[in-house]
Amino acid sequence: MKKKKKCGFCKKTFPKSKIARINKMWRCIFCKRKKRKEHREDLRRNVLGIRKRADISKEVRERREQREKEGNKYLPSIKSIKYRKITPALGLYLTKVEWQVLNQKYINNGLSSKEAYRKVKGIREYLMDFTQKLRKEKKSEEELSIRFKEEFEKLCET
Ligand SMILES: [Zn+2]
Repeated sequence: MKKKKKCGFCKKTFPKSKIARINKMWRCIFCKRKKRKEHREDLRRNVLGIRKRADISKEVRERREQREKEGNKYLPSIKSIKYRKITPALGLYLTKVEWQVLNQKYINNGLSSKEAYRKVKGIREYLMDFTQKLRKEKKSEEELSIRFKEEFEKLCET
């Protein structure tokens, strides 16, 4: 009988011709193919400029830290805003402080107070739609809170 080996990824056993040892782990040709495909997709994503949500939030965080290091005198840092615990009854919305932060940011960027107000209002409506959509997808409140925060941070960066 031929010797068989167990793939460390899919946990199935394969004859030696269909499995190889890569980085101290046995990997079958199917898992190897899958891994290669993932790698290709990552590359494609990079080329097309499509980024994963996790990448974006990491970038946002890094940029914010950089900005804090440089010391932004005009804006209270986004980090200082406490994200409230979300209860389903309350829903997700911009707090007064968040509203002010955004409003001030747009005014600093040269918008009139009327334009800034309209822009923040648009953002609020957008976030409300966004969370409503997530609710329909039956996401947990925790996930909602994270996604809301990420979305808000993204909006703060643009
Ligand atoms: Zn496998």
